[in-house]
Amino acid sequence: MRCWVEVSRARIAANFRAVVDLVGPEVEVMPVVKAEGYGHGAAEVSRVLEAQGARWLAVSNVEEGVALRQAGIRSRILVMADVPPYERVGLAEFGLTPVIHSLEDLRALPPAFPYHLKLDTGLSRMGTRAAPEAIVEAVRGAPARLEGLMTHIASASDFSSRQTEAQIARFLEVRRAVEAAGLAPTYFHLAGSAAIGYYRPGAWQNMVRPGLAIYGYVSPPRGDAPRLALEVKPALAWKAAVLAVRDVPAGALVGYGGLFRAERPMRIAVLAAGYADGYPHQLSNRGHVILHGRLARLLGAVSMDLLTVDATEAPEVKPGDAASLVGSDGDASLTAEDLAQRAGVISYSVLCGITARVRRTYV
Ligand SMILES: *Cc1c(COP(=O)(O)O)cnc(C)c1O
Repeated sequence: MRCWVEVSRARIAANFRAVVDLVGPEVEVMPVVKAEGYGHGAAEVSRVLEAQGARWLAVSNVEEGVALRQAGIRSRILVMADVPPYERVGLAEFGLTPVIHSLEDLRALPPAFPYHLKLDTGLSRMGTRAAPEAIVEAVRGAPARLEGLMTHIASASDFSSRQTEAQIARFLEVRRAVEAAGLAPTYFHLAGSAAIGYYRPGAWQNMVRPGLAIYGYVSPPRGDAPRLALEVKPALAWKAAVLAVRDVPAGALVGYGGLFRAERPMRIAVLAAGYADGYPHQLSNRGHVILHGRLARLLGAVSMDLLTVDATEAPEVKPGDAASLVGSDGDASLTAEDLAQRAGVISYSVLCGITARVRRTYV
């Protein structure tokens, strides 16, 4: 193989159990497997989670939910982003549960659907900002059954801001109004990975929606954060084959734009990965990979299909060897977070950015 990822099923399972253990038996854990399970492969990840007892999974759109049903997944599936009317057929046929984002959409929803209603408590993206009384009235008037009340937190890893507390307060205000009106949804949920990992139990209510944490990451905090309460480990290793090893003289220019000039006679290993595989172009001349258990720096630009790395200190490297772009080997390790920080992006975009041509394998 030229470029592949290895996903550890055991790590996915252990990360899920770590969340279950932290939030306790009163809180339902609904892992988020949108965007091909953050690049890990939604079907296989969902099979592992289902075998671990996950009764709910969350995806972004109807197509993702249908793909899981076609892969044999039987858990409840919540479709979190908007469901346009022309996709409602898919919802019914495949037993998917929609999130409803506005009171108008609620009135249009046929009775057959239990639904979760999303509140905009401060993210200003999706969900209703209507007053509690208007929400109660719309829920009462709708034919379908309110099964869950939810919102999404904007800054759960930021302890320099009070935005999370304000969002929880706004959510509770609507929750109280809904309950006082005798409408009794089964689930109340706000928290993604950061609100779980940084222990904000006020956001857990009785359901949580971890995405990133299932794959082994929690974003770095801002401000005066408590210690992480959740222990998870990366489930994905990303590898590329060494295609060629070559020696270049001092002064040789390497790659597009001649971004790197050899400081002395150097040995270069050419790897079968590039930005068309999702490797961040921003790591040109500044990233690292692991070669034979040691970090080796990227030399020159990230090309579409190739990376050039410094193998001067690794004379044993030969074509056919595997280099790690993300993973650990010997004493060296590189996480998606390491790549993200160096590239000035986030770990989510590194993981979701691994493109379809990179073969997914499971161990
Ligand atoms: C993606 C998403 C999540 C999961 O977020 P993580 O930070 O990956 O845990 C939870 N809820 C909603 C609405 C989302 O879109």
